[in-house]
Amino acid sequence: MGSHSHVAVVAFPFSSHAPKLLAVARALATAAPSTTFSFLSTADSLARLPATAAVVPGNNLRFVEVPTGGGGDDGDGDEETPLWRRMEMFVEAAEGGGLKRAMEAAGDAAGGVTVSCVVGDAFMSMAADAGVPWVAVWTGGPCALLAHLVGDAIREDIGDDNLHGARADELLTSYHGLGSYRVRDLPFGGAAGGGDMHRVMTMFLRRVAQRLPRAATAVAINAFPGLFPPDVSAALADALPNCLPIGPYHLLPGAAVAAPNDDDDPHGCLAWLANRPAGSVAYVSFGTVAAPPPDELRELAAGLEASGAPFLWSLREDSWPLLPPEFLDRATKAGNHDSAAGLVVAWTPQAAVLRHPAVGAFVTHSGWGAVVEGMSGGVPMACRPFFGDQHMNARAVARLWCFGMAFDDDGDKPFMTRGRVSEAVASLLAGEEEGARMMRARARELQARMVSAFEPDGGSTKSFHKFVEIVCARRV
Ligand code: UDP
Repeated sequence: MGSHSHVAVVAFPFSSHAPKLLAVARALATAAPSTTFSFLSTADSLARLPATAAVVPGNNLRFVEVPTGGGGDDGDGDEETPLWRRMEMFVEAAEGGGLKRAMEAAGDAAGGVTVSCVVGDAFMSMAADAGVPWVAVWTGGPCALLAHLVGDAIREDIGDDNLHGARADELLTSYHGLGSYRVRDLPFGGAAGGGDMHRVMTMFLRRVAQRLPRAATAVAINAFPGLFPPDVSAALADALPNCLPIGPYHLLPGAAVAAPNDDDDPHGCLAWLANRPAGSVAYVSFGTVAAPPPDELRELAAGLEASGAPFLWSLREDSWPLLPPEFLDRATKAGNHDSAAGLVVAWTPQAAVLRHPAVGAFVTHSGWGAVVEGMSGGVPMACRPFFGDQHMNARAVARLWCFGMAFDDDGDKPFMTRGRVSEAVASLLAGEEEGARMMRARARELQARMVSAFEPDGGSTKSFHKFVEIVCARRV
């Protein structure tokens, strides 16, 4: 054993979790060059990261594979087994010794230096049993974490399946830190993939909520200090040991992967944006899992066209056939020549897109990654939440920070209608009314606060120093 220490960073290899944990791993490896960091994930999830993902200045970050648990050799990419079942099998295998064996393999690969601390996605709560300190990383909305921590009490009070019942609009004022949110915003229902996904996610998250307060050494959250009102921060600090707002993770020094070429922008989105006037483009994305129902997708398409604004739309290819006839042709053909048209692509370098000066509005599912990336670009948002933390995030965007709006849920009607979309986009981009001006101003203000959080004496910088100290503490 040399004098180096060794930290395992354990990813949850589904949806957008692994890239978010990679950002934390890269920042840690950059901040602590004499510590070895092993990033553990499934082969398939590692293969989906950029080719240069493990390249850091100290050359102290390595990738180690963990077994998928039988959900297919290509893990997350296996189409045969539903996502909920692959998640379940993966977690069962990790709990049944898979994680321990992968940590031992990481130790062998690091020349026999055993792992002295595990930094893990909070979803990998079995890391609490690894026999070394467990530092958890929460990737979702911090308020949803707070709700999960008191989830059993809320479920007893309201009922798991009753989020849209008679109490849907009641504010959660009897729960510390949750008073700005309504019952209908809670992150407990409506998971994509139906009843089985709901069951699996509920089980994961209940376990996370039970283990975090008593077993974690520290819990990182993807926000900067002061982003949430004091009651929210106090409630999180009361519930969790060393709750550290070190984010947004993608802005931590060293977090971004330097792409050697256009690998991360295969569809030329940034070049397309370069030809558009400042603040003129609406960017549309619903993240890696959410998908609007077909009728709503068509309304959205019609609304974007009706707004007259140029738009860039990240839409998974399996949804393209659902678009109105000739929409794609019209959009892309005109997009090549005319400023008032669109570009529809399967993937964008989203964080860079949202920082591009041409982007002036963001139509989003309000996943937490989307929210912090929108903030870091100073872009006002129109939120169409689907499941999980997205409803709470949308509420916070529209009511707490007021840098955007949320499409209303009217029961039978789709959230996004043609008229609402075109109105929202036009208003966020260039509306002269007081509300629209305020949203744009608030977005710029949040962006500035985020930048200050990463200054040498900024809040995220200080929290991150403490985080590094805890993770890299010498242990015998
Ligand atoms: N993303 C991206 N390009 C896309 C779509 C999504 O880079 O075309 C990234 C985005 O930057 C974000 C992540 O995928 O970091 C999605 O995370 P989020 O929490 O918003 O939603 P989720 O996919 O977890 O629902």
